[in-house]
Amino acid sequence: MNLTKKVESQVKKTLAKIKISKKDKILVAMSGGKDSASVCYILRKLNYNVEGFHIDLKIGDYSDRCRKAVEELCKNLKIKLYIYDIKKEMGGGMCYLRTAIQNSRDSKLKNCAICGVIKKWIFNKEARRIKAKYIATGHNLDDESQTFLMNILKGSPQLSANIGIETRNKENEKFISRIKPLFYVDENDVREYSKKQNLPVIYDKCPCALDSYRIQVRKFINTLREKEKLNIMKNFEKIFPLIERKKDLKLNFCEICGEPSRNKICRKCELVKI
Ligand code: AMP
Ligand code: ZN
Repeated sequence: MNLTKKVESQVKKTLAKIKISKKDKILVAMSGGKDSASVCYILRKLNYNVEGFHIDLKIGDYSDRCRKAVEELCKNLKIKLYIYDIKKEMGGGMCYLRTAIQNSRDSKLKNCAICGVIKKWIFNKEARRIKAKYIATGHNLDDESQTFLMNILKGSPQLSANIGIETRNKENEKFISRIKPLFYVDENDVREYSKKQNLPVIYDKCPCALDSYRIQVRKFINTLREKEKLNIMKNFEKIFPLIERKKDLKLNFCEICGEPSRNKICRKCELVKI
């Protein structure tokens, strides 16, 4: 099977498992990178009801280039694009917000962890405002096996309860389901795919991604073959029912921002006070 067919059929299988209707609005969280660009391109090609969503993180020239790439792709695909300007909405770029948090609260918190919490909070709030049924991210097989392995190495496999092709919470009407169409697609295949389709994409890594442990695990994952990465996820699928049963499915609403939260105050509001 050629690469295009292989990647697209893996995505089709994943989407079939989630049982998405072609009418359901899917908001693709587009970073400007190859993964989310490929997700958007494939969903559009398969005639899903897709719109783009980009957070302009205001990380200097890197963010400007990412934004331009997303704008170009959405224009080419003739889809609507929503841009969330973090400086306007939260009073500062991601570097500023992150440094303030690290200086004032918890200096051990890693850059990607802080950025991840803030981005997820924005995704949910904005997807609900836009009335999307799903928010799709570009997480691929390498990302997911890396997260699962890191949680195993930390001795906390229960932290992987939110991995999976779909994260949803039926009990909480404010929680928008997150889907990962590239869950079973090898990162090398996504890179090749995006190049083959000539997608406007920024291939550089985010200049703030400095978490050395994550980089170390990623280097190891890079040495594995596709089959071995799939095997890691097979192990995940075996233990998933155990961790899912254990995780507290009850979500409340944050007392500050009203977003879904496990605790009285959500993680984003613990970090950022606006
Ligand atoms: P990361 O957290 O950078 O590994 O990105 C994971 C996924 O989140 C990407 O594949 C995108 O779907 C989404 N994402 C990351 N950064 C942005 C951004 N600036 N705007 C919109 N979506 C993003
Ligand atoms: Zn909150």
